[in-house]
Amino acid sequence: MSHIATQLIHWHKDHGRHHLPWQGNRDPYAVWLSEVMLQQTQVNTVLPYYARFMREFPTISSLAQAPLDAVLVIWSGLGYYSRARNLHQAALMIMRDYQGQFPDSRAMIQKLPGIGRSTAAAIAVFAFSKREAILDGNVQRILTRYFGIAGYPGESSIKNLLWEKAEEVLPVTYRENQIETYTQALMDLGATVCIRHTPFCKICPLQQHCVAFKEKRVEQFPTTRLRKPLPKKEAVFLLLMQHQKLLLEKRPAPGIWGELWCPPEIKTGVDPVSYCQHQLGITVQFPVELPILDHQFTHFKLRIHPQLLHVVSSTLNPHNKFIWIKPSDALEQAIPAPVRELLKQTFLLDKHDPNKD
Ligand code: SF4
Repeated sequence: MSHIATQLIHWHKDHGRHHLPWQGNRDPYAVWLSEVMLQQTQVNTVLPYYARFMREFPTISSLAQAPLDAVLVIWSGLGYYSRARNLHQAALMIMRDYQGQFPDSRAMIQKLPGIGRSTAAAIAVFAFSKREAILDGNVQRILTRYFGIAGYPGESSIKNLLWEKAEEVLPVTYRENQIETYTQALMDLGATVCIRHTPFCKICPLQQHCVAFKEKRVEQFPTTRLRKPLPKKEAVFLLLMQHQKLLLEKRPAPGIWGELWCPPEIKTGVDPVSYCQHQLGITVQFPVELPILDHQFTHFKLRIHPQLLHVVSSTLNPHNKFIWIKPSDALEQAIPAPVRELLKQTFLLDKHDPNKD
């Protein structure tokens, strides 16, 4: 067995995480949900969302039967909403193409929307004890340091090399739960010891053969990509109020906030009064500028200029695309985090966030 596998399996018994609610659960649905939620989000943030999601949609079939809107409401505030849309889409696919049975091979799992090779491998390991290698960001970091692999892991040649290494160090699986323990240990080491900044090498079970540690070059791995400054975008959000209700518009999918409810948005420089009149059929009083709100996405920064407008008269027919809603009730809809923040600030809402239960 590889040094990494032996050490990690041994280490995990006393030092790994054993308390997470999805651990020890062989239900592929529970494993899948936890892996997807953990893709871009910290464990502590995921915990209440995971519990609530499992309460609302305890099975694949309940998720498939739910309207996408209801799924987005539960996901609201967790970000990266394409994950929720893909979960819903995949649940429909599993019901339609696999008679409700979650596929049990990594290759088949990987064909579901929103599931890459590493996530598919993790599900195959934890739900079906398959001998598959994972390579998420944490594992990439461990392997680049352990083997002293230079070069940006996002480049395909480096990524391929890391996949080779990840497979090379897999444990033999003659003991029950060996692959599960190893995979969990790798995840735990990345989350608690071989962390991004100042890893705890002194207590690391891999220290003896770790190239980066032995050569005192830990901070050089993984090689980072030269970062260009993020592009900046600006937008004006129109908070239209009528009879103490706020107008929200459902964003089209696909898109960064596709299928989520937001205030109508216009470009900076566009006259809001004229926009409301001609595009929405709403006559408004002079807008009041509210404090600016900054939000950072992975690929750009958004500066939001909110404006409060009181409706004088309206011929808008809401259909499915618009709703008039009390600001406090809007917090219970599928709305993106910055809109949630904006509503709380503007309307002084300290209402308990349902997603934080
Ligand atoms: Fe990471 Fe340090 Fe362990 Fe090497 S010795 S794997 S750098 S924590």
